[in-house]
Amino acid sequence: MINNFETRDNSEEIKRQYYYIDLLKEVVSHLKTSKNRDITACVETFGCQMNARDSEKITGILKSVGFEVIEDENADLTIYNTCSVRDNANQKVYGRLGRLSTYKKQNPEMKVVLCGCMTQEECVIDKLCKSYSFVDLILGTHNLFRFAEYLYYVYVGIDRNLDTQYESDIIVKGKTLVSRWEKTEIICEKLPVDRKYFYKSGVNIMFGCNNFCTYCIVPYVRGRERSREADEIIKEIEGLVKDGCIEIMLLGQNVNSYGKNLSEPISFAELLRRVEKIEGLERIRFMTSHPKDLSDELIQTIKESKKICHHIHLPLQSGSTRILKSMNRVYDKEKYLELALKIRREIPDIAITTDIIVGFPGETKEDVDDTIDVIRKVQYDNAFTFIYSMRTGTPAASMEQLDENFVKEQFDRVLECVQETARERVKLMQDQVLPALVEEVNKQDPEYLTGRLSNNTIVHFKGSQDLIGKIVNVKCAECKGFYYIGEMIE
Ligand code: SAM
Ligand code: SF4
Repeated sequence: MINNFETRDNSEEIKRQYYYIDLLKEVVSHLKTSKNRDITACVETFGCQMNARDSEKITGILKSVGFEVIEDENADLTIYNTCSVRDNANQKVYGRLGRLSTYKKQNPEMKVVLCGCMTQEECVIDKLCKSYSFVDLILGTHNLFRFAEYLYYVYVGIDRNLDTQYESDIIVKGKTLVSRWEKTEIICEKLPVDRKYFYKSGVNIMFGCNNFCTYCIVPYVRGRERSREADEIIKEIEGLVKDGCIEIMLLGQNVNSYGKNLSEPISFAELLRRVEKIEGLERIRFMTSHPKDLSDELIQTIKESKKICHHIHLPLQSGSTRILKSMNRVYDKEKYLELALKIRREIPDIAITTDIIVGFPGETKEDVDDTIDVIRKVQYDNAFTFIYSMRTGTPAASMEQLDENFVKEQFDRVLECVQETARERVKLMQDQVLPALVEEVNKQDPEYLTGRLSNNTIVHFKGSQDLIGKIVNVKCAECKGFYYIGEMIE
């Protein structure tokens, strides 16, 4: 089931994948001719920015081999890029698979592929192969860069005598092809990417996570932390800027520990200073900052930068020192508060957002009071609040779980407090004129555009479509709770 097919040389790996991209082109072209129509593909993304970026890589390959990429799941090929951070994400995928099975009954030649964090879990693979046997291909997170190769086998069938240069690491389980690696050292970033937005892009600076927070599945499904070489990252961003990109988001599970394990170590702040020098790039964002590793050097770098956006996502998880210890977060309530208030003092207009988990095993009303105390003191600009979800295989799964009704009550208290502080913070921008990156035409009213301020607040204002991808000055005229209706200032 687990294939440990490690090749460390990524140039060999890139050559291998382009070989399969060429073979797939022939397959798609043949399908188009025989059906006398376009061959469609749909990629559905669940979860975080990391998955969104992976989906751009999948779409890049699909388009380069000739698929017509559409948004309708009733396509010739449908791919679910899954998330397993919380159980409801898994349940959503199982629910949606039911619909795909109906489509597949109507169109037996349809292909269904599952990848992402869920499919890195062996128990999920077993369940899929047993109860969802219409799925054609399952691949894990570590070998996603071999997507073209595996998709080729989905179409031509897995015949070991096929005239290919390479031996495949795929296995057949029932009717499904499966390839899941336990780990990898390979970072393979030079394959086609189809960016969703021409003016902004995510850039992976590292993969995996070493922190093992006791509730979290990420280290088990994304593997150990691996940083990309700074030169490679810079080259990629320079290329993106040449293609018209003005904003980038540096992505990692804990960007503050970037570069520590490289042969020539470099700090995250140093990387940011190098990125800042790229001409034509106007905005830099990053995600996520673990509070335990956030340095004074980073705060100074943001403060002195002209390009780094004034938004920091600083997950709290809990305000209770006792719970933080049980979560293995490595900071306590006081240290977190000290850090957040230092950031507010040094960069007063910065937006601080956070993630909070309510209902972690052993959490009491008093622990939640501590969380609420931190929310009031930090005055978050926004927060994602989650009900703790038990993840099999994590240490917290074997702790005694809390009563659901109690958790729901505590969750509502936290949510109410977060919304209160967020409203107060957003109000502070009333009547200010601030630069906004125009992202799209407003979905509800096409006369309006939707822009994003440096601090990540959304503002809707009247303007013409040709401003998409440009930075314009907007007056925050009417506060609507968490966003603004603005007026563009010429
Ligand atoms: N690496 C980031 C960090 O350390 O903050 C977070 C990545 S995780 C994909 C995003 C968020 O999901 C976490 O910050 C946490 O609040 C939430 N999360 C992770 N595991 C969870 C679980 N088992 N139940 C509920 N929320 C969870
Ligand atoms: Fe999960 Fe903690 Fe790693 Fe974030 S830092 S991905 S919460 S283990």
